[in-house]
Amino acid sequence: MNPREVLIIGGGASGLTAAISAARKGARVTLIEGLNRVGKKILATGNGRCNLSNMTADKIHYHGENPEFMEYVVSQVTVEETLGFFQLLGLETKVEEGGKVFPLSDQASGVLDLLRYEVEKLGVRQILGDPVISLEKKAPEFTLKTASGKKILGDRVILATGGKSAPKLGSTGTGYALGKALGHSMTPVFPALVQIKCENPGFRNMKGVKIQGRIRSELKGRTLREEKGEILFTDYGVSGPPVLQLSRGIAESLGREERPGIVIDFFPEIPEEKLYETLWMMVSLDGEKPLDFSLIGLLNKKVIPVVLREIGVENLKKPCGEVGDQEIQKLTRLLKACRLKPSGTLSWKDSQVTAGGFRTKEIHPNTLESKTVPGLYFAGEVLDIDGDCGGFNLQWAWSSGIVAGERAAR
Ligand SMILES: Cc1cc2nc3c(=O)[nH]c(=O)nc-3n(C[C@H](O)[C@H](O)[C@H](O)COP(=O)(O)OP(=O)(O)OC[C@H]3O[C@@H](n4cnc5c(N)ncnc54)[C@H](O)[C@@H]3O)c2cc1C
Repeated sequence: MNPREVLIIGGGASGLTAAISAARKGARVTLIEGLNRVGKKILATGNGRCNLSNMTADKIHYHGENPEFMEYVVSQVTVEETLGFFQLLGLETKVEEGGKVFPLSDQASGVLDLLRYEVEKLGVRQILGDPVISLEKKAPEFTLKTASGKKILGDRVILATGGKSAPKLGSTGTGYALGKALGHSMTPVFPALVQIKCENPGFRNMKGVKIQGRIRSELKGRTLREEKGEILFTDYGVSGPPVLQLSRGIAESLGREERPGIVIDFFPEIPEEKLYETLWMMVSLDGEKPLDFSLIGLLNKKVIPVVLREIGVENLKKPCGEVGDQEIQKLTRLLKACRLKPSGTLSWKDSQVTAGGFRTKEIHPNTLESKTVPGLYFAGEVLDIDGDCGGFNLQWAWSSGIVAGERAAR
């Protein structure tokens, strides 16, 4: 029997693992990548360290219309099996806080080089710098055309074109038109794992301030999600790892025209009563000290005028002796529950992952093959599955790439 001709569109994390697994199963594989090299995004992951997986990669860390879909796929290629896959390529890994997995070398480029080495060793044909612009099926074959005018035929196609996040790294969303042309439908896409814009103009003066705080998103008094860690105040709103985790829920809620809120606790380790006592003690030390100056041992100097104005203090220099209990109470409450109004998120260019994508109900979870177009497979972020920050998205890309590659080669 002739080997399968498998065409893989997109040479990112999922396309590379799909190419390796299909070639290992004996298929003749062609990998077509729009950029002039494969895996550019992998180089940017984990701040150049590549947070390639997470030991706790289960359903609760994934989102989309049907997060269970992810379970079917990742149960076929688990985290342990993925790390085993990488170990056989020559990559040693370590587990850090929160179950995050990194290469021992702390270098994303090492991960990519090992994948590229294997792709080349397996004889995968690579067409680089030539994006696919159309895809059609005239049974039994698929025909795709590239921007330079190449026409390529194959028995099987794996769509691994990623989403729209970080378009400079290749994922511009052009893959969506290819799947749609074959009749697949999509859920709305929007940037996730992205910075949040806020309406509160006063807080823009805190630009550049970082705190180790607790942040939660809420809707009508109900907490949507809560995270702790480094929060960065910016001229547009807030950033930092816990903010990225909140961004999907906020964007979704704003998209439904709701009014979600953000609540920041500046001192998560200090109970409210203790903070109240501490503030009283600080202003009681010296009745002549200006109020703003009396707080410099507790708060960043850029934070002080903002929070004092926020609680209605007009004269920031007023002597501590004139400060009343109401002001201390208000300040305590503000520092424990500072409310910001999100107005949106930054754009695709800043986001790490795309929420939404091809509807998983139109795809077989065991094989990643289309239910309507036999021979068409999907892998990675192009699907309506996105994960939290912490290695979950790459794990999804690796697992789905391996499953799609193996199945397409059968
Ligand atoms: C800055 C940044 C940091 C990140 N860090 C992490 C991290 O540490 N851990 C983690 O788990 N996740 C991280 N992510 C997310 C993770 O990188 C992605 O979810 C993952 O790479 C998706 O893999 P993919 O193969 O589906 O898509 P991509 O990696 O986006 O690959 C898609 C490929 O398809 C190509 N392509 C697109 N259209 C066409 C076409 N028409 N023809 C041919 N080729 C095409 C693109 O050029 C691209 O190479 C990060 C993302 C960013 C942007």
